[in-house]
Amino acid sequence: MCDICSATPPGPSRRSVLVGGLAALAASLPLGALGSEDSVDPESALQRLLDGNARYASGTRANTDFSVGRAQRALTQRPFAAILSCADSRVSPELAFDQGPGDLFVVRLAGNFVSEDGLASLEYAVNFLGTRLIMVLGHSNCGAVDAAIKVVRDKVELPGHLPEMLREINPAAETVLAAGGDILGTAITENVRLGVQSLATSQPSLAPRVGAGDVQVVGAVYDLATGRVGLA
Ligand SMILES: [Zn+2]
Repeated sequence: MCDICSATPPGPSRRSVLVGGLAALAASLPLGALGSEDSVDPESALQRLLDGNARYASGTRANTDFSVGRAQRALTQRPFAAILSCADSRVSPELAFDQGPGDLFVVRLAGNFVSEDGLASLEYAVNFLGTRLIMVLGHSNCGAVDAAIKVVRDKVELPGHLPEMLREINPAAETVLAAGGDILGTAITENVRLGVQSLATSQPSLAPRVGAGDVQVVGAVYDLATGRVGLA
């Protein structure tokens, strides 16, 4: 932490402010939207994602008119899966899984790592929207993971806030560089694996639900060239 930051009087963290805001928002939701009893179970949710990706990859998408059901969707939302995706412009979860508006709760940031704010958003989906499947979605040729490798291996210095962001991806790069082989491909998978582990063991919200088998966290990698998603 820099001198200016450490001199700032202590106050509520961004996460506590966000979670507090989400709790207030949830209080305004109908009670029926908060339970998981009528939500999609994790196994069925994963199958829906994989089936949708098969349609997308083969050019037979079913969801092409996003205006269908728009007025009904204004009343509430029940996304059947949450996706933690990279912000890469070539990766679009709604398209890649052939889903319509309201189906997926998507959190995106370069490198698809677990940030505090991203975690809070995913907790919101699980606890207040009834989402029971979380997928951490990496992708081939990820520039953020590649940058982390260059920072760790070549000591490249990046401008602005990028070093702070890459600090979250560097552990994957460090592990893979020590092992050798397909460094970028393996680091992308390792970064996804670390994300899954971080979410599945996250206290106090997600870990108990995962431990009870009520919520599942899975990892996957999207191939830019084929459009296919493979579980990681
Ligand atoms: Zn990426």
